[in-house]
Amino acid sequence: MGLGYVGLATALCFADAGYEVLGVDIDPEKIRMIASGRSPIHEVGIESLLSGSLKDGHFSVSSDVKDAITRTDITFVTVGTPSQPDGDIDLSFISSAAAEIGTALGAKKEYHLVVVKSTVVPTSTTFSILPILETSSGKKVPVDFGLCFSPEFLREGTAIEDTMNPDALIIGSEDDRSSGVLSRLYEAFYRGKLPYTLVTSTSNAEFVKYSVNAFRATQLSFLNSLANLCEKIPGADVGEVTKGLRAVTKIDERYLKSGLGFGGSCLPKDLRALISTFQKTGLNPELLTATLVVNNAQPRRAIEVSREFLGEIRDKQFALLGLSFKPGTDDIRESVAISLAVALVSSGARVRVYDPRAMSNARHVLGNSVEYAQTAISCLQHADCCILATGWDEFKKITPSGFKQLMRNPLIIDGCRLFDAPVFETTREVSFYQLGKNHNDARQPEFQVVPAKNYG
Ligand code: NAD
Repeated sequence: MGLGYVGLATALCFADAGYEVLGVDIDPEKIRMIASGRSPIHEVGIESLLSGSLKDGHFSVSSDVKDAITRTDITFVTVGTPSQPDGDIDLSFISSAAAEIGTALGAKKEYHLVVVKSTVVPTSTTFSILPILETSSGKKVPVDFGLCFSPEFLREGTAIEDTMNPDALIIGSEDDRSSGVLSRLYEAFYRGKLPYTLVTSTSNAEFVKYSVNAFRATQLSFLNSLANLCEKIPGADVGEVTKGLRAVTKIDERYLKSGLGFGGSCLPKDLRALISTFQKTGLNPELLTATLVVNNAQPRRAIEVSREFLGEIRDKQFALLGLSFKPGTDDIRESVAISLAVALVSSGARVRVYDPRAMSNARHVLGNSVEYAQTAISCLQHADCCILATGWDEFKKITPSGFKQLMRNPLIIDGCRLFDAPVFETTREVSFYQLGKNHNDARQPEFQVVPAKNYG
């Protein structure tokens, strides 16, 4: 239930493995698109999985929840849990989905397992979702139906690959029957390559999801803080520091990349929800608040650097390359690139944008405030400054002389550390600034160095 980034990827992976999967969504346009073989989201490999599984009949879509529950054994709930203004999550989509599932369960004789995959704060499954399911069905867990919380860790851009090869599986449940059914499903699905599986309480499983995302967010803000300091230290480059850090600490390198800050549909939202949970219990979330503060300030680095080079940026022409919150997806939810475009426009700059996949989503948010280019090349025409905001591979093809030929003033601010810095730094064709790297040719520290005492 819920055919978004998580639901569609999950459904198609099960269908590809030979399971009969019925996908349900409340958005009729989405249902129409998927039924016709077109994916509403950009994700590597999703179109071919969709057409294959529609053709072989393992996957079909419906908006009839009652029919779907009757014809299946297990329901994965993958509806959205967006942020509320106070940072807490909005449980309204999951509550109405639970009410619909419960009503359908009321009419079903056989046992059915409900698995919540949507991200929900600790206690939500047992204290919010379970009562709705029991009241609307008139039935009880674990006798009539089962309930588990099993968090999702897929990353957009590699959603299919991550679903097929997860780092771990977490099964949260309050009864052995429910966790047993889900364990057996995962064992059969992953066959010989079942990853580490933790079977625990629903609150612990909910907590694991938030701890992972808060940890990743904190890791990124930590690295961005170091990157900002590296810019002030002669000879320092956060890329090199990261190599050493990774080698010694063995930290997950997928989240050890500095840049303009983290965005997307998960990390900022989950961090705010965890902060709100701390506050509700009377505990001080100062570490997590600092993570958020650092992240909110980070996109401004690109604007500060552009001012250092250009002075006043009002009426200057900016080329913004990349709009999605990361390469490999069309998702712009909480994208740093979008907030950068908004900040540039409000500073009076003229902004032209380009993204290989996210243009249509961006238009809904940015409207007429920016100009939309058809290609990366046309985005650069006559620009005074280019900011690389999302590290799409195709941007790597643009050479220093390419930038020089197209731009009025070839200033490149590499906000995602995409380019090979030595290549761009050794040419006189462009002015190049990569975040996280010291660019002080004079090799003079920007801070006071205390001379060592002469002990001789
Ligand atoms: P999404 O917004 O892309 O998709 C949610 C879908 O649910 C939409 O298509 C919506 O129409 C549908 N929906 C809403 N109410 C419904 C209902 N009552 N019945 C049927 N369908 C309904 O969301 P997403 O990015 O796929 O995220 C889903 C959940 O998974 C969220 O809780 C999110 O935090 C979590 N999650 C997301 C990711 C990610 O990378 N996107 C990763 C891990 C976990």
